[in-house]
Amino acid sequence: MIKTSAMEHRKLTNYSWWSTRPVIGGIRQQEKERLRIRVKTIDVPGWGSVKLENLVLDLNGTLTESGDFIPGVVDYLEKLKAQGFRIYILSADTRGVLQQTFELSPDIEAVVTETAEDKKRFVESIGAETTVCVGNGNIDVEMFKVAKLSICTVQAEGATTKAMLHGDIVVAHIKHALEILLDPDKLIATLRY
Ligand SMILES: [Mg+2]
Repeated sequence: MIKTSAMEHRKLTNYSWWSTRPVIGGIRQQEKERLRIRVKTIDVPGWGSVKLENLVLDLNGTLTESGDFIPGVVDYLEKLKAQGFRIYILSADTRGVLQQTFELSPDIEAVVTETAEDKKRFVESIGAETTVCVGNGNIDVEMFKVAKLSICTVQAEGATTKAMLHGDIVVAHIKHALEILLDPDKLIATLRY
């Protein structure tokens, strides 16, 4: 799933989800455990209950527009992190901007994925039942299928009809997707039957 070039990239940045994860008992692990306790179960009438611990985001067309981060989006991610979400950004890094995520927030973990199957496998590896995915393209469809909750965002670069059909929720802009996650009442109002 991860190519050598990606590993080299992550070595250069001295930051990776697999190299930080094994630090059991370290400060990072303790912080994660503390945040995990704060994650609440949300009961959605007619839809089921959901306990979201992981937020997995596509990069291009979802967090960025023409290769630049959409203004304000990192502030939303910081708020979600404070609410207990572990945040991962998945991308083939087509535009070579993944590096920017390290500079924006050291606790947001970036993972290079090349295919839809890579994204799906990553979501399964962290626990699909407690994961919400946000994306816009065909490469996001497979992770949408396995994740507990999937949000398709349309915005400037558009979304594919397949991505829309496999999302539980479709929004016009990434900020709306993140606002829904910040406010469980919005999530319940949209998903309930
Ligand atoms: Mg995309």
